[in-house]
Amino acid sequence: MTFGAFWLLNYSADDYNNDEYSNNMLHWGRHYVRDQMHDVRARCGDGSANAITFGGSDYVELYLPFFYQLNVVGRAATLVHESRHFGGKGHDANFPSGSAFGTGRSGADSGWDYQGAWMFDVLYLWWFYAAGTRTTDALKQSAKQRGNFLIDNAFAQHPGFTII
Ligand SMILES: [Zn+2]
Repeated sequence: MTFGAFWLLNYSADDYNNDEYSNNMLHWGRHYVRDQMHDVRARCGDGSANAITFGGSDYVELYLPFFYQLNVVGRAATLVHESRHFGGKGHDANFPSGSAFGTGRSGADSGWDYQGAWMFDVLYLWWFYAAGTRTTDALKQSAKQRGNFLIDNAFAQHPGFTII
């Protein structure tokens, strides 16, 4: 399942060999993950997280919900998310009132402009929905759905937009 996510990450841009940062994230997502994520482990976990990156950038653990609750594009976006943690950006806020992640629990990003792991997560889902190739409409729709779910639940200050 993890290799499936890496495949999606690598081959979803039309011209997938072009992974320069000057292109949209569908191109450079794979580049970013390759640059940042250097130690990936699988564990069971306690069900409360899909994945956690430890020690800032030491290693990432992928947990059961990563494998069994996310689909392949959700897993790919989670790899992008965790790579942002490897890149030195932690979460800086608590989840907002009514969040599906738990009101007041830590692990949210303050807002879109913080450019944290949730923003990277959503941005990847968004580009996959908008321009992903070698995939299905159903998977693109699910990327949009999860992107909007994260927009509504993972930011202390709502970004103020919706993927349409
Ligand atoms: Zn995170």
